[in-house]
Amino acid sequence: MQDFSPSADVVGLYSCGPTVYSFPHLGNMRAYVFADVLRRALRWKGYPVRHVTNITDVGHAVADSDTGEDKLEVAAARERRSVEDIAAFYTKAFFDDLAALNVLPADEYPRATAYVPQMIEFAARLEERGVTYRLPSGLYFDTSKSPGYGTLAMMDVAGQREAARVYYVEGRKNKTDFALWRAEEPGVRRAMRWDSPWGWGAPGWHLECSVMSMALLGEHFDIHTGGVDHRELHHVNEIAQSEAYLDDGLPWVRYWLHNEFLVLNNAKIAKSAGPVPRLADLTEAGYHPMAYRLFLLGGHYRSQLDFTTQAVDAAQATLRRLIARVEPLRPLPLVTTFEGAAAGYVEQLDAAISADLATPKILAILQESLRDPDISQEGLRVVVAAADALLGLRLADLDLRDVDRRRSVSDLDPAEVEQIERLIVDRTQARKERDWSRADEIRAELEKLGVQVTDTPTGPTWELR
Ligand SMILES: [Zn+2]
Repeated sequence: MQDFSPSADVVGLYSCGPTVYSFPHLGNMRAYVFADVLRRALRWKGYPVRHVTNITDVGHAVADSDTGEDKLEVAAARERRSVEDIAAFYTKAFFDDLAALNVLPADEYPRATAYVPQMIEFAARLEERGVTYRLPSGLYFDTSKSPGYGTLAMMDVAGQREAARVYYVEGRKNKTDFALWRAEEPGVRRAMRWDSPWGWGAPGWHLECSVMSMALLGEHFDIHTGGVDHRELHHVNEIAQSEAYLDDGLPWVRYWLHNEFLVLNNAKIAKSAGPVPRLADLTEAGYHPMAYRLFLLGGHYRSQLDFTTQAVDAAQATLRRLIARVEPLRPLPLVTTFEGAAAGYVEQLDAAISADLATPKILAILQESLRDPDISQEGLRVVVAAADALLGLRLADLDLRDVDRRRSVSDLDPAEVEQIERLIVDRTQARKERDWSRADEIRAELEKLGVQVTDTPTGPTWELR
């Protein structure tokens, strides 16, 4: 971030979006929370941003291969719904998760199906340039004609190492060549089909991101983001076709940023790997979506992050403590950029976000300021507001009761219940001994655990608030 300077008045930011054929899972959402932090960081630095996130509703073949069925069509057959219904349903599920995770809405969410004519024009220009060839299965990009192919992924181009997910295609000249147009197989009629110079069929998956980003951000733009799983195939191919299309000798996009995987039970989470929890599973289990966001921000985006129950429990507890601590400071001032913000801790926040989006450091600085006995209330409010402008944890408005909304006593494990009941017995004892300060201390401790104690004539009762 220290080295970054935008190439235009507005920073163009493109994030690879979801293929809307199933519910997004927790691993998928890491990419969007990461892009959101990047966007908040740019705003913090005073750069206006135009953010585009695509919705892939056609063209993504099963297993990322170049041939065979489209993921949307398979889902439509499985669920006995139209492809349009499938796309609409899972697009909404994606938007719901973005909103729950407090991700700032992108300026545009283009859908691939709305850009097929432009994709055909794009592929036709590549054909004119002589960097493609035709096969019965479609139009292919000849990667041997792309200087520097695979540089982004530091691929071993000389050996033409076949990426694990690239499938064998009859007649393909190089293993890394990829489909720009996927022609219908004889006798097989696709549910989603368009006419093209290469016959009826559907666009190749990589084409949409090049076409839609250029349409909405201009031919060259500043930043492209995506999950690290896109780096070796999807992004390498986006670059190859875009630079061949523009043919101006310039790098197509100036900065590529990739977030690492979420790791579940030591396995990288990918859609094909079987059932993976999604945000709704967490909220049904009593976690607040902001606890998941906090968990994500507790790791650096370029590090793999272990998803464990203990880690999310810890995030939920930290969130509740944070909200309990900042509630009395509200209303917080509006701070979204570094300009004009107070010195000291805010400078530390600025240094942390500038150091490649060091969100764990920002969380640490925030906690430190909240423990600082010497900071003024006014100063603290600015620090909290500044930290939240970068973290997006809703520190300004999240209600403590919402954080614990779905928690009921039956969700607690026996050890937690035992701990709570021991504290209540201790408190009753302290009150008997008229040790009011000890009783208050215990009450505060119970409040931290989300426990509300009510004293009745027959003794204290408790519930989760
Ligand atoms: Zn993409």
